[in-house]
Parts: sequence; structure tokens; C-alpha cells
Amino acid sequence: MQHLHSCKLCPRLYAHRQLQKSRYPNYHCLPVASFGDENPGLLIVGLAPGLHGANASGRPFTGDASGATLFQCLYKFGFASHQHAAADLNEMQLTNCRITNAVKCLPPQNKPDSVEINRCNPYLRDEISQLQAASVILALGTIAHRAVLKAFEMPQSTSRFGHMAEFDLPGDLRLIDSYHCSRYNINTGRLTLPMFEKVFSRIEQLLQ
Ligand code: SF4
Repeated sequence: MQHLHSCKLCPRLYAHRQLQKSRYPNYHCLPVASFGDENPGLLIVGLAPGLHGANASGRPFTGDASGATLFQCLYKFGFASHQHAAADLNEMQLTNCRITNAVKCLPPQNKPDSVEINRCNPYLRDEISQLQAASVILALGTIAHRAVLKAFEMPQSTSRFGHMAEFDLPGDLRLIDSYHCSRYNINTGRLTLPMFEKVFSRIEQLLQ
């Protein structure tokens, strides 16, 4: 496994990173590492960096609309020190929580292909392998859900994604699914703040 920061294993995504760097010289435009507590009870897995979010800031779910609802919940449930991720970039601290993505590089149109998702999976597997027993993984969306199962080499057919579906994982870990907190899902009402808070209430129960 290459060092994440210099990973160029996906030619299409590497080219896309380079293209965006030429357009936005101040943006991160590199693989985005996970962020948060080194020894978390909760690992949140998103899809991939957003162009003007994590790809710009270098921090998952930081800088665009997808992070707004997430950090609102993280703050409410005591996982984040601040409610607004982008406003407090240098001060933000996560407690008992870490955030990552299934794919670490910005994909065109937010759509990594299956080869890229699989190629990036060892980084996620490595992050998951560091979790303690009784930890919870929150998968945001189908791709994150599938990436978590793949990290455990579990069959996809018997554990399908569903909002608030829960699954036992090896190592006494627990997986819970949620619709992704993307701007699209929030704007269309597919995921509302009360729905997302319910997910976090359940996580709170699981971590007790
Ligand atoms: S998506 Fe993952 S595997 Fe592909 S280049 Fe980025 S860090 Fe490397």
C-alpha cells in the first residue's frame, strides 16, 4: 500500500486532482486523510471528497454543504467541539469520533468507479483495523456501506444497505447505515435533520 499522501494508484483520479489543482491552486487536491480522535468509538465513512469541500480543505466533510448537517449532529451529540466545521478549521476537535471516506480522492461528478473504490479499500481496511471492540461504524450511503463490507471481505448480497439498518461485524464491531448527508439528499428531503439525529441517538445507545 502506497503512502496515502502520495498515492497515484488511480490514473483517472490522479489526473482529475492535477486538473483541479491547476484550476484552484490553493486547494488541497491530494488524497484526503481521515480526521478526528486517534482512538474513536465511532468511525464515520463517507463517499469521497467533494470538489469545494474536503478536496479544498484537506479534511473530510469540511468546507461544503455535506458537512453542515453532519457537524450539526456531531456537535449536538458531543462528538465535535464546534457546530460549523469550516468556520473553525483550526480549532475543530473531534472526541471519540473519526471521519473518513471510502475513496480518498475527488472523483469526477462525485462518482468513483468500482475499480477505484476497490483500489482505495486497503486504506479504509487499515483504518478499521485500528478500531477497538464495541466500536461503531456509520456508513453514509450505499458506496460507504459496500466499502465497509468489502474491508471485512463480507458478502454484499446478504447485508444490503438500508437507512438505519444495523449489522454485526467481525471484532465485535457494529455497522449502522444512513442516507448520505449530501446537499442533494437534504434538499430533497430524503434525509432530514430529525432523521439524522435519530441515527446519532442510536449510535449513542450503541456506544453506552
Ligand atoms: S482513490 Fe485511493 S487508491 Fe486511488 S489514487 Fe486516491 S488514494 Fe490512491
